[in-house]
Amino acid sequence: MEQHAFFEGKIVPFSQAKISIATHGLNYGTAAFGGLRAYWNAEEEKLLLFRPFDHYRRFLNSAKILCMEFDHTPESLTQITIELLKTDAWRQDVYIRPLAYKADPGIGVRLHDLRDEIAIFAVPFGAYGKNEDNAHVTISSWRRVDDNIIPARGKISGAYANSALIKTDAIRAGFDEALVLDQNGHLSEGTAMNVFLVRDGVLITPPVWDNILEGITRRSVIELARNELGLEVVERSIDRTEAFLCDELFLTGTAAQITVVTRVDHRPVGDGKMGAITARLRALFNDVVRGKNPKYRHWNVAVE
Ligand code: PMP
Repeated sequence: MEQHAFFEGKIVPFSQAKISIATHGLNYGTAAFGGLRAYWNAEEEKLLLFRPFDHYRRFLNSAKILCMEFDHTPESLTQITIELLKTDAWRQDVYIRPLAYKADPGIGVRLHDLRDEIAIFAVPFGAYGKNEDNAHVTISSWRRVDDNIIPARGKISGAYANSALIKTDAIRAGFDEALVLDQNGHLSEGTAMNVFLVRDGVLITPPVWDNILEGITRRSVIELARNELGLEVVERSIDRTEAFLCDELFLTGTAAQITVVTRVDHRPVGDGKMGAITARLRALFNDVVRGKNPKYRHWNVAVE
């Protein structure tokens, strides 16, 4: 049965959601996107969106950086997403991709005086990386886009050419993923995930001003670490060599969830196995996203 998409203001069969090759967003990368997950809760027979309002708030903010204005709110976009998921009656984990793009065809690079559109589609989705339990990462020779070049804070399509350069070089060199430094030489993030490390029992992650995407998973993990594990969480700049010397290292993202890193550029992280804090956070997170932790049930929005 054919799936559907939200396209030009309505839900249509997927094959009808088509754009011209002259579309501005395709030619110049003048688009912004989001990425949400909906998890299938088998006991309740319900699909649960994880923190959709937060995702759509960031999505609309990314669009705002590109001078896009919509009548939509995080609530209205969540409602459209629910309608779309109901139309296709998913009974499995799915990934939802909202895209805001400069929709006019034609030549001329700019942001103003162009029609903006929002499209949303969903795909079945399990694990993102091949090696989420013991990933080997490299530190990329590429640098992260800077806030004054293309803001990493916005999920701007054009900026993902930076992530794609980083990812492909890492994979072709035999690694699972890469960490990337910003212009100041500080650790920023992975290609589509934020980074955390544990040193002496303290959870450390780069601050929002070190050219990161302000991840929803990052925010969730910080809250869970503080409230459920009683951990000290510090947001501060991180040097490259701290990735070699830390006790635990993991990556967070909607797609990657909590991916455990056990080697950085051929050096073992800690004892080279998943650390205790990472394991506890992962177990907590896996329950929370599937709506199995009543304390955090407000982060789940049922598709009904
Ligand atoms: N950084 C980048 C560059 C990303 O693309 C993503 C994925 N959206 C993340 C971090 C993680 O963000 P989130 O937890 O909101 O998915």
